[in-house]
Amino acid sequence: MRCTINQIPCTVDLLSTSGMPLALLVQPLALPHPSEDPVQVVDFGESGPVRCSRCKGYINPFMKFIDQGRQFICNLCGFTDETPRDYHCNLGPDGRRRDADERPELCRGTVEFVATKEYMVRDPMPAVYFFLIDVSMHAIQTGATAAACSSISQVIADLPEGPRTMVGIATVDSTIHFYNLKRPLMLIVPDIHDVYTPLQTDVIVQVSECRQHLELLLDSIPTMFQNSRIAESAFSAAIKAAFLAMKNTGGKLLVFQSVLPSVGIGALSAREAEGRSNISAGEKEAHKLLQPADKTLKEMAIEFAEYQVCVDVFITTQTYVDIASISVIPKTTGGQVYYYYPFSAVSDPAKAVQ
Ligand SMILES: [Zn+2]
Repeated sequence: MRCTINQIPCTVDLLSTSGMPLALLVQPLALPHPSEDPVQVVDFGESGPVRCSRCKGYINPFMKFIDQGRQFICNLCGFTDETPRDYHCNLGPDGRRRDADERPELCRGTVEFVATKEYMVRDPMPAVYFFLIDVSMHAIQTGATAAACSSISQVIADLPEGPRTMVGIATVDSTIHFYNLKRPLMLIVPDIHDVYTPLQTDVIVQVSECRQHLELLLDSIPTMFQNSRIAESAFSAAIKAAFLAMKNTGGKLLVFQSVLPSVGIGALSAREAEGRSNISAGEKEAHKLLQPADKTLKEMAIEFAEYQVCVDVFITTQTYVDIASISVIPKTTGGQVYYYYPFSAVSDPAKAVQ
């Protein structure tokens, strides 16, 4: 919590004369300060956490127990619930449960509840990282591809070795290229309108099984495409194809994009020039530029989110890429947009690693 002012005025007059707002900024789920007690974990066993049966609010210090502790009133919606039998406890003379101070969920602002099966769509997922790299002419020439590859190499080196850490890589220009991470084999997906994933196996593999091969591949991607004259990018189709590869496990898709997605499903057009003329026409028209161009990406993103695929997009560009449309994907899937504009191969790669 942070206060907007560090001296609290002793009268209302003083506050209004000061012209300063008196408020608290509260950040839920903030990282605890090292001097604070760690957040406690509460395990209700198979029945899961006690919750209000009407609004599904979780048990917390402000729920009021009544009737000798047999019932509780939800502080969020006011509904009265029966206390589950094995959670019953008598009330003290002060009206609080006698065990309130021993139960973190009844005396702490923040606790972790152990989630039961009911809270999961599937078993806890492995940590899957899929990297999608733009290898169109512009990306290669500005050094963005090389920067992405070297950054990925560095972060992969830090990934935990365990059997549940998995990685995959694809590159994209006007077609999509998947890589078998166990054998040196590139698989090209030429159809960027009806996308598929070429292999069921070995596109996403345990990082411990492919570390060396992966590093070699990342080293060679910039040279493999160095003479490319393909300016087009099938960005959306490639994201869709990567999603299909990840669909069984869910995971994180990290996309490194340098140009406007121009071909295949979800292709975008340069709205920038149109926007400029609209700015003179009136602000209302210009605002359209802040809205996504069409619904295709949104529909895709909703499907990604259903399968717990989160997309981060690293935009390393020197031109217009229509972030308003692209950002729908990270926004809908709980990911982030990282924007490096104008991209510099000298100073930006280090930032991506962080
Ligand atoms: Zn409630």
